[in-house]
Amino acid sequence: RDWLISRQRYWGAPIPIIHCDEHGAVAVPEDQLPVVLPVIEDYAPKGDGLSALASATEWVNTTCPTCGKPAKRETDTLDGYACSSWYLLRYGDPKNAERAWDPETINYWNPVDYYVGGDHAVAHLLYVRFWTHVFNEMGLTDFKEPVKKLIYHGYINAEDGRKMSKSLGNVIDPLDIIDQGYGADSLRTYVLFMGPIELDAAWSSKSIAGVYRFLNRVWVLAQEYIESDKSFVGNDAAVTRAQHKTIRRVTEDFNRLSFNTAISALMEYTNELYKLKVDGFSNEVWGEALRVLTQLIAPFAPHLSEELNQELGSEILVQNTPWPLWDDSLIINKTITIIVQVNGKLRAKLDVAKDASEDDIKTLALAEENVQAFVGNKKPTKVIYVPGRLVSVVV
Ligand SMILES: [Zn+2]
Repeated sequence: RDWLISRQRYWGAPIPIIHCDEHGAVAVPEDQLPVVLPVIEDYAPKGDGLSALASATEWVNTTCPTCGKPAKRETDTLDGYACSSWYLLRYGDPKNAERAWDPETINYWNPVDYYVGGDHAVAHLLYVRFWTHVFNEMGLTDFKEPVKKLIYHGYINAEDGRKMSKSLGNVIDPLDIIDQGYGADSLRTYVLFMGPIELDAAWSSKSIAGVYRFLNRVWVLAQEYIESDKSFVGNDAAVTRAQHKTIRRVTEDFNRLSFNTAISALMEYTNELYKLKVDGFSNEVWGEALRVLTQLIAPFAPHLSEELNQELGSEILVQNTPWPLWDDSLIINKTITIIVQVNGKLRAKLDVAKDASEDDIKTLALAEENVQAFVGNKKPTKVIYVPGRLVSVVV
């Protein structure tokens, strides 16, 4: 299918062609490239079907490269697609003033490892592949395919599930959302939380409010830590376990572009920390757990993240810190929960080390306050231990 690449507008790359009465359309010689847009006062179309460039007579009137007689420049410009078909090659050699790129440099940096596209991505992909195949044939690249891996993200539809459109009056303006008090962090986090990246999703005013509340919970938790006396150490192992488990989940989710589940993992982590903080905070372990939270949340809520990072005492920006690492051995739960029954009724739960001895577990069980209350001064007739599960006391 043919593709019309000329447009009658100012903003576009000039088409490097000169029209001569005698020689027709003549390509601008390489030593006169690139043809640069002239500065003009009025960009608006005049209604005559010509590009705004046609009025820049000083620029339009030139000489024919072949015969040197008066000639005129092409006044149409290239369609945006013409430039978007190869801009990704220029990124590999952006400061080259001699040519669009040096093939050796480009062959080092390209093809692109990962391309994320949305609107018009199908046509764009077709064109960018076509152009790159041509460049390859011209010896300008040693690869034919411009992109190794490609993902198309879904559309965000209106609250009613239909495509947003001005005529339906259902358009959500991101700036309105920010101004309503949600801020840019909530907006970003919510958009990535809406669902799997490749699927369409409908906007929900209720859900963005939920994301806003989540970010507030993160904020409040950090403030409580900062203001606390940080003297409690009883929950450190559980805090560390939650931290390492979350780093692993979020990292793995990022690697497969599963941002919505990464955010879910951060919500669960925050909930877990809320449960663990009821007895108080320790200094170092909690400090690290919260710094890790600011790092993991940074790609979604960068402003909140940097602010908390600073308040938590860090002197470097989160964006300049390495991504946190996890230790699998710290994720494994090293304790087990043992149920304690007295005469067949549940009276206590014990958290003990996995490798605790039977004698130690029985002693701990009998020492439990609520077990004592039911055993009293009597001597138990039997204390049975079912490994890994329960201690049964019979009186
Ligand atoms: Zn000529």
